Amino acid sequence: MSRLTEAKKAVSALVPAASAISRRIFEKPELNFEEVFAAEALTEAFSAEGFKIRRGTKKLKTAFEAKWTGNKNGPTVAILAEYDALPNIGHACGHNMIAASAFASAVAVKRILGEKCGTLKVIGTPAEEGGGGKLYMIKDGWFKGVDAALMVHPANRNRAIARMLAVMELEFKFYGKASHAAAHPDKGINALDAVITLFNTINAMRQQTPNFSRVHGIITHGGDAPNIIPEFASAKFFVRGITVSDFEMMLKKVITCAKGAAQATGCRLKTVKNPIFYLPFEPNRTMGKVFKGYMEAVGLKDGGVAENLEIGSSDIGNLSQVVPALHPEFCVSDPEVVNHSRDFLKAVVSKKGEGAMFKAATALTATVCDLFTKPEFLKAVRSEFAS
Ligand SMILES: [Zn+2]
Ligand SMILES: [Zn+2]
Repeated sequence: MSRLTEAKKAVSALVPAASAISRRIFEKPELNFEEVFAAEALTEAFSAEGFKIRRGTKKLKTAFEAKWTGNKNGPTVAILAEYDALPNIGHACGHNMIAASAFASAVAVKRILGEKCGTLKVIGTPAEEGGGGKLYMIKDGWFKGVDAALMVHPANRNRAIARMLAVMELEFKFYGKASHAAAHPDKGINALDAVITLFNTINAMRQQTPNFSRVHGIITHGGDAPNIIPEFASAKFFVRGITVSDFEMMLKKVITCAKGAAQATGCRLKTVKNPIFYLPFEPNRTMGKVFKGYMEAVGLKDGGVAENLEIGSSDIGNLSQVVPALHPEFCVSDPEVVNHSRDFLKAVVSKKGEGAMFKAATALTATVCDLFTKPEFLKAVRSEFAS
């Protein structure tokens, strides 16, 4: 039997169980670090399939690992499961499907390879949507000894190889001096003017930013009343770049804009950098090419969107800097329906969406099986990563 036929057969036997997992997690959306139900549902399901469970720590209670070893001298491959939801809009990023496809693929790999499997780990990584769960897990050693890490993510097109942007959240706080806005404006220092100047200088800077970079912000405090010169104003920005050096350049430029705005208005500036920031995601193209072959063979035609277009950011970026990683997208919706929208929320439990999810899980199964059984493939993955 060909690898793909084996994968198709094994995954299709898991359709009812994986579909139930996807729907149960969907029905009970949980935010960053609070995914207690999802982590419990998944560890229970893996335990029933003979995987050995390692639970989260006190610090990171909704993380988990489900491990199965066929041959202890073989390599270690991790399939990643995300299962956090978004505020107000639930599973509009479809992480219920990431969890369900991880379940279907991991169990399928175990059933196909048996003793020929090395160490297969499903690593449950909480809080992708802003919490940076993987960052804590990298630091705490969950990925030590992992030779490759893969996952699949629902989207509005199929794409095996996509990059992602580094991102940092910054808050700029401007301190001025309150005064009567009509009788004594000359005695005040206007902190809101500093924020407005900041937005204007960032907008002027856009023309000189590296390709694919992004900077976008909101005003988080703009004053208290129109008849008081604002003594305090603040703004939050996300700064993004496609490489570490582009990102650092963007960060420097934006901070310079803020310093300039403070100087121009006479305000004092405090800059607060969120310590949890995502590095750029570098897909392992060797794994990507193999996955793409299987993806297209099961009928998920690549959508033709370039790897550096229409991309966001994820904590798998940080992981891709320490372990060869792959994060392909599979299409569950029409092209105009995007992640984090109400229509996407419907797509991640639709029949069409689930059909695509099982095809993606099949391609993932076949790719992971190859990593275990074809040493030259894993060697190529490693040497790409090393370079
Ligand atoms: Zn998302
Ligand atoms: Zn997502």
